[in-house]
Amino acid sequence: MLDTAQTQGSGAAAVPDFARRRTFAIISHPDAGKTTLTEKLLLASGAIRMAGHVKARGERRRTRSDWMEIEQQRGISVTSSVMTFERDGIVFNLLDTPGHSDFSEDTYRTLSAVDAAVMVIDAAKGIESQTRKLFEVCRLRDIPIFTFVNKVDRESLDPIALMDEVSSTLALDLTPLTWPIGMGVDFRGLIDIANKRALLATERGGPLVREVPFETPEDLIGLEGVEERIINEAVESLTLALGVLPPFELASFREGHLSPVYFGSALKEAGVAELLFGLGSVGPSPLPRSAAGARTVEPAEDLVSGFVFKVQANMDPNHRDRVAFVRLCSGRFKRGMKLFNPREKRQMAIANPIFFFAQERETVDEAVAGDIIGIPNHGMLRVGDTLSEGESIKFEGLPDFAPEILRRVLLSDPMKAKQLQKALQDMAEEGVVQVLKPVSDPAPIVGVVGTLQLDVLAARLEKEYGVPIRYETTSYVTARWIIGERAEVDRFLESNRSSTARDRDDAPVYLARSQWVLDRAIEEWPKLKFVAVKERG
Ligand code: GDP
Repeated sequence: MLDTAQTQGSGAAAVPDFARRRTFAIISHPDAGKTTLTEKLLLASGAIRMAGHVKARGERRRTRSDWMEIEQQRGISVTSSVMTFERDGIVFNLLDTPGHSDFSEDTYRTLSAVDAAVMVIDAAKGIESQTRKLFEVCRLRDIPIFTFVNKVDRESLDPIALMDEVSSTLALDLTPLTWPIGMGVDFRGLIDIANKRALLATERGGPLVREVPFETPEDLIGLEGVEERIINEAVESLTLALGVLPPFELASFREGHLSPVYFGSALKEAGVAELLFGLGSVGPSPLPRSAAGARTVEPAEDLVSGFVFKVQANMDPNHRDRVAFVRLCSGRFKRGMKLFNPREKRQMAIANPIFFFAQERETVDEAVAGDIIGIPNHGMLRVGDTLSEGESIKFEGLPDFAPEILRRVLLSDPMKAKQLQKALQDMAEEGVVQVLKPVSDPAPIVGVVGTLQLDVLAARLEKEYGVPIRYETTSYVTARWIIGERAEVDRFLESNRSSTARDRDDAPVYLARSQWVLDRAIEEWPKLKFVAVKERG
């Protein structure tokens, strides 16, 4: 049960600004209802007044940027974006993650910038592949997770069976905070366990406008206005669930071991306000971040720090602009401030930072830990860069993943080699693809995690840089970064010239022709490590 004493954000004046921030993402399998839930969260917060805005916003963006035609053709969302909205003095920063499994790298990076996640599950399907993958990423960082079991207004699995499946599949403790009164055609409302009230529709399929308070769920047995069978079954199953499941415990939730579960229907706006309340009351405010050299940066520190988790180039095709999305980790950022970028070893004046509100962008005057600001730049900022006001800090946790799909890039017009090089460098810095320069072949290799990225790359190179390309398959099945003492690495590179390359940062990479060959290399070169994940340098 929620304890109001644990509520942050109420009595806002007494708490520092960053403590009122909730920076989170929604993770789900495609079609589970992430877009609908996003929209209904914005509605519940009052940030938008009418349904349909989230998609409409997508449309506007598409018309602004040609390459997003590809999104339209495929009906998927390729880019992540940020939506900021406010409710009851709490500022929510919702980072949108692309739903398509092909874009997992971008998603991983987005998840490195949040403090909590909402996992949306389709009540008829339970845990699906993509949810599971994304959940594992959250678990790597012990991010607290809210679970929203969506579409209870449709034919669904039994709530106890569902909780059981989710709990055992993910090895995660669950505790319900809302419970459905009937599911599918029987759906009549929710029991809001945290706030001890039933929320009911006054007409079948209508909004949950009737509120009935209770002391214990048993008080709801035989409740007037709901079919006896439906309400009694709901109370019975809830009592059973509460009897066997652990109670809500803040520490366990914050450590990522226990997830509060909200049953609901995003489409019918049922359970959405309760989820928003949960995010505000028990969701974590900005967490400390670990940085290189065993340094932990606290959000309450005076000096500003933050890191770039995403770079988006050419948001406006008429200008070669790029926007770096920066997650602030400490201090109070002010427009015009000069921040130090240790990779470039220089200061940068942040003249025109942008905030992303539900419907528009605005210039930022001030921002605090937990906030996301967009910094327009001409290529100075890369994913993984740290910006700080004083000391040189390097945040950890923004990895590159070994690509599983490797293609040679061939130019249709050989005169454009220079443009291609520049364009690929841009795309690599933006994190769209990894670009590898083979030691013994002039044609660059691009590495991706999913094939859709290849289509996006080709479309963007042609549209934005006027460089049409073709791909040619390679005989490599995977890549590994080679880590070890310089002399040993050099010896390896010398004896494997046809299977090695350099990455964007000139780090040596082994291109393996099969898993067997990779295993043999690992065995034959015990002093070297062949790693699949590399921190961005
Ligand atoms: P996303 O791919 O996860 O963003 O999913 P969408 O939000 O686009 O939803 C996928 C489909 O499920 C759409 O047709 C929605 O209208 C529908 N949907 C979403 N939430 C609900 C819900 O609570 N109940 C029902 N019946 N349909 C829903």
